[in-house]
Amino acid sequence: MLGFSLTEEQQALVEMAKRFTKERVTPIAAECDRDARFPKDVFEAGHELGLINPTVPSEYGGAGLGELDNALIAEQLAYGCTGIQTSMLANTLALTPIKLAGSEAQKTKYLGMLTAEPVFASYCTTEPTGGSDVAGLRMRFEKHGDDFVLNGEKCWITNASFASFYVVFATSDPELRHRGIAAFIVDRETEGLRVGKHEDKLGQRASDTAAVHFENVKVPKANLLAPEGQGFKLAMETFNQTRPDIGAMATGLMQRCLDESVAYAKERVTFGQPIIEHQMVQAMLADMAISTEATRLLTLKGAWNLDNGVRDPIVSSYAKAFGADRAMQTALDAVQVFGGNGYVKDYPVEKLMRDAKVLQIYEGTSQIQRLVIARSLAR
Ligand SMILES: Cc1cc2nc3c(=O)[nH]c(=O)nc-3n(C[C@H](O)[C@H](O)[C@H](O)COP(=O)(O)OP(=O)(O)OC[C@H]3O[C@@H](n4cnc5c(N)ncnc54)[C@H](O)[C@@H]3O)c2cc1C
Repeated sequence: MLGFSLTEEQQALVEMAKRFTKERVTPIAAECDRDARFPKDVFEAGHELGLINPTVPSEYGGAGLGELDNALIAEQLAYGCTGIQTSMLANTLALTPIKLAGSEAQKTKYLGMLTAEPVFASYCTTEPTGGSDVAGLRMRFEKHGDDFVLNGEKCWITNASFASFYVVFATSDPELRHRGIAAFIVDRETEGLRVGKHEDKLGQRASDTAAVHFENVKVPKANLLAPEGQGFKLAMETFNQTRPDIGAMATGLMQRCLDESVAYAKERVTFGQPIIEHQMVQAMLADMAISTEATRLLTLKGAWNLDNGVRDPIVSSYAKAFGADRAMQTALDAVQVFGGNGYVKDYPVEKLMRDAKVLQIYEGTSQIQRLVIARSLAR
């Protein structure tokens, strides 16, 4: 049976996330953007309410919610600020590979750590030499007795400055490409691990993004998450799980663009009438509404597939690529609707435009999503 209604629990979750966003996120979004500051107190409050790490199973202290629930939360938080939202939900990217491949001991320790306290974790694939070609990563691991030693650098890592642990992908030999890649859980306090500078970004400035340097970092055997040859597959499976989240972020951002634009278009008068009466403005608003709803549906279908064991990662890629591209266009149109006022920081839409851009870049660029989709069509 096909249905589009949310359960009572999901409706309550949406209401809670919406209220939290309205009270805690939206009011400080512009200031956090200006100062490039992540509000840790908001993260702590979200953790208290169960909005952080919602997909951790109950046996590890989590709420055991599904990917669809996670997407519903993400959309609401993104409405307030995708920068704050990215950092609030980035733990999901780090905990997903542990959920997928972790040993019982790893799950108990690391998922338990995330649910017990409002702590951060980061997911590290990208390196200065490239992010799209994950199989081409160069960070090295060597086996030293029972332990492993990591050397190299990761960059663009969300929440790197705050993380208590990192899920790190490294290779025994870059020539082996995907066959050489393994994954490790690395504790923050490990000797030789150093967090680099905080990136000064165009958008999503409230989110922390930094490099992580590894110099002879010793990782015990117990922290091997995926053995050599299995790391690449784990990275791809992780992205398959988390891509609907970007669709959800795009939906929240577009809904905000639409609401702000409709409100402004009703107020702003030109040629003797509110600009909402001008057909070319109406067309932009209509396109925003279509894009928002279409992305929402693709996102929820991608998430529903994951929750129901439907092995179709392509819908997640549709949601990610379509949502990111439409969010960028929608934010550009929102600036257009506001005219000159759209171009200054006194109004919220220039931030939405800056924030939207990275949706086309992280977790697989729009081009990489199209590669994934085209390859699946060819198969
Ligand atoms: C704010 C932010 C947060 C991030 N957070 C994280 C994080 O937490 N963890 C993490 O590991 N990474 C993170 N990233 C990194 C992100 O995933 C990469 O930036 C992204 O994958 C692209 O890699 P790149 O920047 O090296 O671009 P490149 O891979 O160098 O690509 C450059 C351009 O070439 C295009 N391109 C590349 N290959 C192809 C191809 N085969 N066909 C067509 N076009 C192609 C790309 O689409 C892009 O337009 C983050 C990035 C940003 C900006």
